[in-house]
Amino acid sequence: MPLDYPPAFLALTRELRRLPGIGPRSAERVALWLLGHKDAHPASLAAAVTGAAETIRPCTKCGFFAVDDLCEICKVNERRGKQICVVENATDILPLERTGTFHGLYHALGGRLAPLDHVGPDQLRIQQLADRIPLENPVEIILALSADVEGEATTNYLIEVLSPLGVGISRIAHGLPAGGGLEHADQITLQRALSGRRLV
Ligand code: ZN
Repeated sequence: MPLDYPPAFLALTRELRRLPGIGPRSAERVALWLLGHKDAHPASLAAAVTGAAETIRPCTKCGFFAVDDLCEICKVNERRGKQICVVENATDILPLERTGTFHGLYHALGGRLAPLDHVGPDQLRIQQLADRIPLENPVEIILALSADVEGEATTNYLIEVLSPLGVGISRIAHGLPAGGGLEHADQITLQRALSGRRLV
């Protein structure tokens, strides 16, 4: 058998290769750094990964990252019952929150309709959104989905499902960038998109 790294090293590179954007050479480089560099602290890294994976879960109401049943946004009582901003992914929430212009609640769908990838309404948190309306009586549902074909299709589907529930529905002025690129949209763009929203 050709000489190779010890099994524990190979096990480490195998795990690293499962990370997004990490190929075989990067995995080897990272593994060597973790094992050899004075600033690596592999035990702290392992503990942080385990700790985060064990304690962080989706908020049962909006889908944002939480350590309890409810996230820190849903816990704030005075924000309740006014507006619910619907986004595709939990990662879309912080960029919108950081604009400082929106003070309502959120609802992350967990993706968007994508028939070719077998993502239908049942794979998204659409029923959970519909269920929130009679419970929370929001004055407005703001649809803040991406501007591409799938985002549009999801927006139109939501309008169809939510309209009979007697709640005001609006959509942001310009769709958000596709593919979870919200963090790259600058605050002014997001603020304009929100403030220029129109009722449907
Ligand atoms: Zn929440």
